[in-house]
Amino acid sequence: MNNRVALITGAGRRGGIGAAIALTLAQRGAHIVISDICATQTELLAVNNPAWEELQNVAREIETCGGRALALRADVTDADSVQAMVERVRAEFGRLDILVNNAGIAISPGPVVFMPDEAWRKTLDVNATGTFLCCKYALPLMLDGERGGRVINIASIASERPKPNMAAYAASKAAVVALTRSLAQEVAMFNITVNALLPGDVETALKQWGVQLEADAKGLTYDEVYVGQIARIPLGRFAQPQDVAHMVAWLASDNANFITGQAFAVTGGREWT
Ligand code: NAP
Repeated sequence: MNNRVALITGAGRRGGIGAAIALTLAQRGAHIVISDICATQTELLAVNNPAWEELQNVAREIETCGGRALALRADVTDADSVQAMVERVRAEFGRLDILVNNAGIAISPGPVVFMPDEAWRKTLDVNATGTFLCCKYALPLMLDGERGGRVINIASIASERPKPNMAAYAASKAAVVALTRSLAQEVAMFNITVNALLPGDVETALKQWGVQLEADAKGLTYDEVYVGQIARIPLGRFAQPQDVAHMVAWLASDNANFITGQAFAVTGGREWT
């Protein structure tokens, strides 16, 4: 991937899937742009915004791999912010080869009848509309190069195996998969492939939050829920962020030239229950 330029959204958390993807692509020679919302507007204005510092730390770690790394604040739900992000990539690198739509949220779990309207809208906005906006505004830069490219959308196994109390998240990720399949056909003629990954249980802060939530709901301890979930995974462990990152790296590589419009489960063989 020498000299290819990759943009990864939602990559500001050390230990998150986005940062692992960025590091893995950097280790294979790509130049990396990482972006993240870096918290609320008020926090954005703070001089020492910890989320912004963490994003910059991830960028510094990437640079130890030898390539360039650029950290940008961008809110994927805001078209102006996404366009500004893409324009920075154009100004700094003049090209874009790989787009990884990783930014995502899971909020306000609960039955549909009790779900705040705002939680439904926000989840669809970040996960589905955010992916749409990044594709919409980044693809023209990828097309400019006439070298083809890769779009990889981080959806979730929830898109195919929705659990109760997670309707907004599951619906938003199903939208990402449908967007993937439709867009793949639109841009295939330009040698751009579009694929989705469907991670299952990946050991990140988001997953820890989910385990704690289930523990609270069932009156169990964190460890009891953790062990119970692992028992349902044939490979006997949660995924690590690197497991997802390696699949992204394969899809971004020349070995995956002929693969498009697909959604790949990364679940350790778990059949959802
Ligand atoms: P994570 O650490 O929370 O990463 C998601 C990142 O997206 C966070 O840094 C978050 O920033 C950022 N983000 C949220 N809203 C944004 C916005 N409007 N604009 C830009 N960035 C925004 O979670 P993760 O576990 O690494 O998840 C990464 C992706 O994998 C997500 O799409 C998630 O749905 C998907 N996934 C995860 C799992 C799992 O088990 N962990 C399973 C299936 C799919 P803040 O922290 O500031 O909100």
